Amino acid sequence: MRLFTCLVVFSSLLVAQSHQTNNVILFTADGLRWQDLFTGIDATLMNQKEASMKDAKERRDRYWRATPEDRRSQLMPFFWNELASRGAIYGNVTKGSSMTVTNAFRVSYPGYAEMLTGHAQDAVIDGNVDFQNPSETVLEFARQKLKLDRSQVALFASWNAFLHIGESKPGTITINAGYQAFDGTPRMRDLSRGQFLALSPWDEERHDYFTFEMAMEYLKAVKPRVLFISFDETDDWAHDKRYDRVLDSIHYLDQCLRELFATLDAMPEYKGSTSVIVTTDHGRGSKLDDWSDHGKKVAGAEQVWMAIAGPDTPARGEMTNAPEIHQRDIAPTILDLLGIDPAGMKGVAGSPVQVKRNQ
Ligand SMILES: [Zn+2]
Repeated sequence: MRLFTCLVVFSSLLVAQSHQTNNVILFTADGLRWQDLFTGIDATLMNQKEASMKDAKERRDRYWRATPEDRRSQLMPFFWNELASRGAIYGNVTKGSSMTVTNAFRVSYPGYAEMLTGHAQDAVIDGNVDFQNPSETVLEFARQKLKLDRSQVALFASWNAFLHIGESKPGTITINAGYQAFDGTPRMRDLSRGQFLALSPWDEERHDYFTFEMAMEYLKAVKPRVLFISFDETDDWAHDKRYDRVLDSIHYLDQCLRELFATLDAMPEYKGSTSVIVTTDHGRGSKLDDWSDHGKKVAGAEQVWMAIAGPDTPARGEMTNAPEIHQRDIAPTILDLLGIDPAGMKGVAGSPVQVKRNQ
């Protein structure tokens, strides 16, 4: 009997110790296809004038290799050579791992809302609507549950729509999205000025460079517990049928991930206590005539992917022959990682993925 009690106490200590996440960073790349993430430069597109690849010999030479594994490592060396060995990567349908969106629209607002609220809201968010998210987001809920100051939950996004996607009650969290000034350190003020000088080709999305640099400056200065960094150029260049620039944007994302992890590992507030989730809002087509597009009618646009790395995620690398997971699982996963019961958040239909103590 005494031995039994000891075992119970010992195992509950193990359970308590196994939860080490104190901070969560969510990083998204809009409409980044699983095809490019898992198999690298696409043979269907890489010689095509219609994909702006006719004169892109330098990119073909740089990224083309004989196998999908070698191609993806050329395109995303940090992601595949380092991040993958620190966590789990879902969504390679060619290896029996599928992650899909459950919203019917397969465009951005419904996708981000699904990942942030834990459920699809098809009746209200039926496209890229321009009104406030009607449901509380995981960012708002985590702030309330952890009793955090508004500055401790922050969102930096290239797309201005995040001003209403990120929160249901304006002002609950810190949001900087699209072309929007932000104050802070001298470097933050320089970056804030720079975004209005080095303009992207689009009115609603600033360059990802400014989003990333501003988010990193905020991370170092304010040390938020929850940070969401959202890139957009992988989607924008694809719509413009510039596969050459899509490749550049994916490669840039990889460099940013390297810098993010190096920064986290160098800061005592984050080292060993931070979980990072990298994902996308929707897929897109796989053929020459639909790769640039997505939405309800585009075959395969429901396929997405996700990487999780951190102290509570077993290092399994690329998942193979795994049960299907969904975009709506992201919000409950974030809560579970932070030690908050996802059942307490209204409307959540997904389930937490890949946390040690659930196994
Ligand atoms: Zn799009």
